Amino acid sequence: MAEKVTLTCTECLSRNYTTSKNKKTSTQRLEMRKFCPKCGRHTLHRETK
Ligand SMILES: [Zn+2]
Repeated sequence: MAEKVTLTCTECLSRNYTTSKNKKTSTQRLEMRKFCPKCGRHTLHRETK
């Protein structure tokens, strides 16, 4: 049931993380603050397919 998603930095658009989410329980687009190696700081990362 879990779907694999990629977390992309919203500032430099690097794909830095992969995670999985349950499609049934999370219908909204995932957003979380993560460390981006390219930006060298924490930025907002957003779910991409
Ligand atoms: Zn970045």
